[in-house]
Amino acid sequence: STGGKKEGHKANFDIDLPGAEIGKVVTRFPPEPSGYLHIGHAKAAILNQYFAQAYKGKLIIRFDDTNPSKEKTEFEQSIIEDLELLGIKGDMLTYSSDYFQTMYDLAIKMIKEGKAYCDNTPQEQMRAERMDGIKSAKRDATVEENLRIFETEMKNATEVGQTYCLRAKISFDCPNKALRDPVIYRCNLTPHHRTGTAWKMYPTYDFCVPIVDSIEGVTHALRTIEYRDRNPQYEWMLKALNLRKVHIWDFARVNFVRTLLSKRKLQWFVDKDYVSGWDDPRFPTVRGVRRRGMTVEGLRNFVISQGPSKNIINLDWSLIWAVNKKVIDPVAPRYSSVVKENVVTFNIADGPATPVMEEKPKHKKNPAVGKKPVYYYNKVLIDQADAELIKDGEELTLMDWGNVIVDKVHKDANGIVTSTDGKLHLEGDFRKTEKKITWIADVPEQVMPIEMIDFDHMIVKDKLEEGDNFEDFITPKSEFHTLGYGDVNIKSLKVGDIIQFERKGYFRLDKQASEGKPAVFFTIPDGKTINRY
Ligand code: ATP
Ligand code: MG
Ligand code: MG
Repeated sequence: STGGKKEGHKANFDIDLPGAEIGKVVTRFPPEPSGYLHIGHAKAAILNQYFAQAYKGKLIIRFDDTNPSKEKTEFEQSIIEDLELLGIKGDMLTYSSDYFQTMYDLAIKMIKEGKAYCDNTPQEQMRAERMDGIKSAKRDATVEENLRIFETEMKNATEVGQTYCLRAKISFDCPNKALRDPVIYRCNLTPHHRTGTAWKMYPTYDFCVPIVDSIEGVTHALRTIEYRDRNPQYEWMLKALNLRKVHIWDFARVNFVRTLLSKRKLQWFVDKDYVSGWDDPRFPTVRGVRRRGMTVEGLRNFVISQGPSKNIINLDWSLIWAVNKKVIDPVAPRYSSVVKENVVTFNIADGPATPVMEEKPKHKKNPAVGKKPVYYYNKVLIDQADAELIKDGEELTLMDWGNVIVDKVHKDANGIVTSTDGKLHLEGDFRKTEKKITWIADVPEQVMPIEMIDFDHMIVKDKLEEGDNFEDFITPKSEFHTLGYGDVNIKSLKVGDIIQFERKGYFRLDKQASEGKPAVFFTIPDGKTINRY
C-alpha cells in the first residue's frame, strides 16, 4: 500500500514505489569504482535521486567495491565529481568494503546453518554443472569441513584455499538458474584500494548487495531488469540471514545505438589510445557527453522524460540531443564563422573604408543574452559554399547588416569562386531575398582562427549482438576537422561555453586559441542535422 502521495516532481510519469511512505524511502546508487560514470549510470543515479526526493526520503551513494582487480581510488573521485556535476549529492556516502567483516560473519553463520558450502569443482565443470542442474560433489560436505576451509584456507587464500569458492546452498536444479547455488565468496590476492591486504577473499555482488542494502536501511533497491532472474536469489539471501526485507524495483537499462556502455570496453579504448581519455567527446561517459556539449539540464530532462520504463531500449542519440537543443537554443549566443578552405572575399564598393562598429544582440529572440560589437567594412569574408550559389546581379542579404546587390562573381578555371563584388542596397527588403549569408569583416586582427570538430559514433553497427567482437566494428574515422574563422567576439569565450555559429549549428568551446593554434570548437549535435559544414 502507498502511504502517501509524492510531491514536487515534474516528470511525465507517476509511478508509486510499492510500500513507499513519505519520509521513509531510502534508495541507493551503487556504482562500482571500476571506471567513469556513463550515461546509463547517470540514468540510474538520477532515477534514484528522483524517487528519494519525490518521497522526501534519502539517497545513499555507495561504492560497490568488492572486486579489487577492477577498482581504483581514481575512479571513486571521478564518480563523486561527476555526480556533483549532475547535481546529485547523496545523504550518505558509503562503501561495501566497510562491511567486509560483517559479511564474513554472516557467511560463517550461513555455513554453520548448513546454508553455504565450499566448493573446489574446477570452474568450467562448475559452469557445466550449473547449466545442467547437476549436484556438486562438495554440496554435502559437513559444516566442520566447510568452516575449516572457509576460515583457514580461503580466508588466508592458501594454495588450497584459492581452488575453492563459497556457494550458497539454494538449489542445484531450480529452473531459475540464478538460484543454482550461486558463488558468494572468492579468493583474490590483489590488494584492495581501501582495505589493502586485510582480506584475501571477497564477497560477490550477489551476496554483498542484499546484505548491505538491508543493513543500510535501503527500502527500495532499483535494479536494471537484467537482474530480474536474480531477484529471488536476493530475497533468499535476506531470508537465509534473517535480515530486513528490501523492495526490489526493476527499471530498464538504457542503451544507445552504435555505442558501448561497458566500462571494460571503454577502458579498452582508453588503453589503446583510440580516444583522448575518459572524457573523449565520442565517449558516452558523463564527462564525454558534457564535453560534447550536453548540458546537465538536458541530461536530467531526458532521463526524467524517459521515465523508469521496463522495456530495454536501444535509443538513438538524436533523442537526447534534441532535448538538449531545447535547453541551449534559447540562451546560446550567436556568432559568425566561415570555413577557411577557399574562403571568399566579398568586396562591397560603398561599404565603410575603415571598420565601423555597431552593437547587435547576441541572440535575436533573447535580449537577456546581451549585445556584441559587429564590425562593418568594405571587405568581408563569406563561405565558398554560399559564394558558389550567388549569381551576377542577384540581391542578397548579409545577416545583421542588410541587402547587397551583387555585381560580379569571379571564378577560377575550376569554378571555384575567388571573390565577389557588390554594392550595398540597405533600402532593400531582407524578406524578399532568397539568400541570407553569414559573413565576417575582413579586418586582419579581428578574424579569429578556429577549428570546428565534429564526431561520429565509435561503432559502425547499431546494436552489437551476442558473439560480436566490438573490436571488429570500430568506425574507421570518427573525427572530422574543419578550419575556419570566427568573428572577433569569440575571443571572450571561456572553455565550456556553448554558442551558435549562425547557420552552422551549436558548438562548445573546448580549447582557447594559443600560440598560433586556433580555438577549438566541438559541434553539438542538435538531433536533426549531421553537420559537416
Ligand atoms: P558497466 O557494465 O558499465 O560496468 P555496471 O552495471 O557493471 O556497468 P555499476 O557501477 O555496477 O556498473 O552500476 C551502477 C548502477 O548503474 C547499477 O545500479 C546499474 O544497474 C546502473 N546501470 C549501469 N548501466 C546502466 C544502463 N545502461 N542503464 C541504466 N542503468 C545502468
Ligand atoms: Mg556492476
Ligand atoms: Mg556491467
